[in-house]
Amino acid sequence: MVNLDLSGRTRLDACPGALQVHAAADGGLARVRVPGGRLTTAQLRELARAASGYGTGVIELTSRANVQVRGLRTGVDAEDGSGGAPGFADRMARAGLLPSPTHERVRNILASPLTGCDGAGTMDVEPLVAALDRALCARPALAALPGRFLFALDDGRGDVAGLGADAGILPVGADEIALIVAGADSGLRVSPDGTVPALLAAAEAFLAELSARGVTAWRIAELPGGPAAVTARVRAALGTDVHAVPGSGAPEPVRLRPAVRGPVGIVPGRDGRVALGVAVPLGRLASAQAEVLADVAASGEVRLTPWRGVVLPGLALPRSEAAITRLSDAGLVTGSGSSWDGVSACTGRPGCSRSLTDVQADAAAAVATAVASGSGPAPSPLPGNGRRSAGERRDTGEAGGGTLPVHWAGCARRCGRPRGRVVEVVATGDGYRVELDGRSLTCTDIGRTAAAVAALRGEK
Ligand code: SF4
Repeated sequence: MVNLDLSGRTRLDACPGALQVHAAADGGLARVRVPGGRLTTAQLRELARAASGYGTGVIELTSRANVQVRGLRTGVDAEDGSGGAPGFADRMARAGLLPSPTHERVRNILASPLTGCDGAGTMDVEPLVAALDRALCARPALAALPGRFLFALDDGRGDVAGLGADAGILPVGADEIALIVAGADSGLRVSPDGTVPALLAAAEAFLAELSARGVTAWRIAELPGGPAAVTARVRAALGTDVHAVPGSGAPEPVRLRPAVRGPVGIVPGRDGRVALGVAVPLGRLASAQAEVLADVAASGEVRLTPWRGVVLPGLALPRSEAAITRLSDAGLVTGSGSSWDGVSACTGRPGCSRSLTDVQADAAAAVATAVASGSGPAPSPLPGNGRRSAGERRDTGEAGGGTLPVHWAGCARRCGRPRGRVVEVVATGDGYRVELDGRSLTCTDIGRTAAAVAALRGEK
């Protein structure tokens, strides 16, 4: 029998994990899944120390609120027998960050970072994160999910529901939860108690659909007719535990919009406490910065966001001032309007062999150029190996910055591009092409590139 692979995928995904380390151009790359972005401060400290001890000393935050560490030595170290990558994985396991070796790469679960902290959501999804994670790891068959399969638990505020998850939930009424399939409302509704079974049913339906078609795909949306086929399987599997919205012939009863920025600054809470949103320039968190975050996190918990930032819940307002000062002094962004606001970049050189340039250093230089020309506040220096020298003044958090997000990429693949309308800055080999809405401008130096970016973002 000939298998017709309509998805275009011809191989299983090769997403790295903590055990399945990817051999990048700058050494081993390990990715650690952090369901819901939830870390205890003890886990964050352990990550920081392991990143310094085995890798480059930088924790990279990903768009799925996971973390990764680069520059690991692969193989076994003759001196202590632990080796870089195996030693790192062992430390993660002992910190409780690797609870299931078989399922480590499939624990991709987004959750609203501020859930339970303020009054914006209609349902606290915090307990669902742990429940989904446990249930996922308890089903051996779901270890076969691709490492790119994504769950999203939105608490009703609509911040993560639009981020393109394969299977997600969004509360839409009293005790009524919309099931999201392939980034859109499936039209199916479940009760709060039915959310975890419905999400697992969607994951199992995807695997069943792949098996039935005899094809390979990494995401539901890659399968022609995949969302409808998965939705039909979920409905059949759940029976009376799920119902379709009345007259749901409409393909998308609830419209979902991707949120393009995470919370930054003080977020008032409901119990006299506040949450503090912290932006991390280019998602690169130095070990020393991670230690400061752990120091000031009053609740013993930090929450990573899919916008490569962090939320510290449960701060007493009087303590928040001191926390802001320490975080700002450490080079993290604690106020809106920073020059780093909305700036992202792919890995680039030296980590990616495909890259035409050190794209993160260029993005940092462009931010510094924008500051020097008066269109933004002074940026923080990027943590790293000394190659990122642009911008030596700490971020003031004062007003400034652009309106549209901007994403820098070292080649046309544009890895990590945020969803939605984005200014794209793509390396050409002798400069950058700056693009938005079909318009593009080719620039051969950082000054002109920064000016073009500022113009398209609406800064000038
Ligand atoms: S966009 Fe290109 S250069 Fe950047 S990480 Fe992806 S493949 Fe590498």
